[in-house]
Amino acid sequence: MSDTSTDNKFTCGRRTSNVMTAVNQDTWREDGTCSYCGSLNPDTFMRRVEDGTVFLGPTDKGYKVYVENNGGEKFKIHYRDCYRHGTKDCNWESCTHWVISETDETKFYFQHLSPEQKTRFIELYNAKKMNISYPGHFYRLPFFMSP
Ligand SMILES: [Zn+2]
Ligand SMILES: [Zn+2]
Repeated sequence: MSDTSTDNKFTCGRRTSNVMTAVNQDTWREDGTCSYCGSLNPDTFMRRVEDGTVFLGPTDKGYKVYVENNGGEKFKIHYRDCYRHGTKDCNWESCTHWVISETDETKFYFQHLSPEQKTRFIELYNAKKMNISYPGHFYRLPFFMSP
C-alpha cells in the first residue's frame, strides 16, 4: 500500500465549506482511517457490518455512528503522542510523534459511503441483519435513510 500515489487521494465528504480548495487532499492513513475526519474506511465498515463483528452505536447525529468491536479484529487508531515527548506545539503536518495503537471502538461518518454502499446498508438495516447497540435502533436515522 503506497500513500504517495495520487490515485489514493480523495476528498473527504466531511469537507464542506472549503471543498473547492481541498479536492483530493485526503488519504486513507496507515491505520485505515480518513486523514481528514478520522472515520473508519467505508470498505472495512461495510465488511464488518456484513459479517456481524461490530455493534453500531447510535448517535444524535444523522451522519455519525460509533463502531464497537464484536469479537472481530481490533481497530487501529492513529494518534499523536506529542505530550509524552514533552511538547504540544507540533505542526500537524510535520509532527513525528504519530503512533498507532489498537482499540475496540472507533467511529464512522456516513459521508464516506458510496451510493452502492448506502443501498446495501439500507438493505441490511431493513432485513434487521445489523447489530445496533442500545436502544437497538437508530433514534436519528442516517441522513440517506427515510422512515
Ligand atoms: Zn473523512
Ligand atoms: Zn508531535
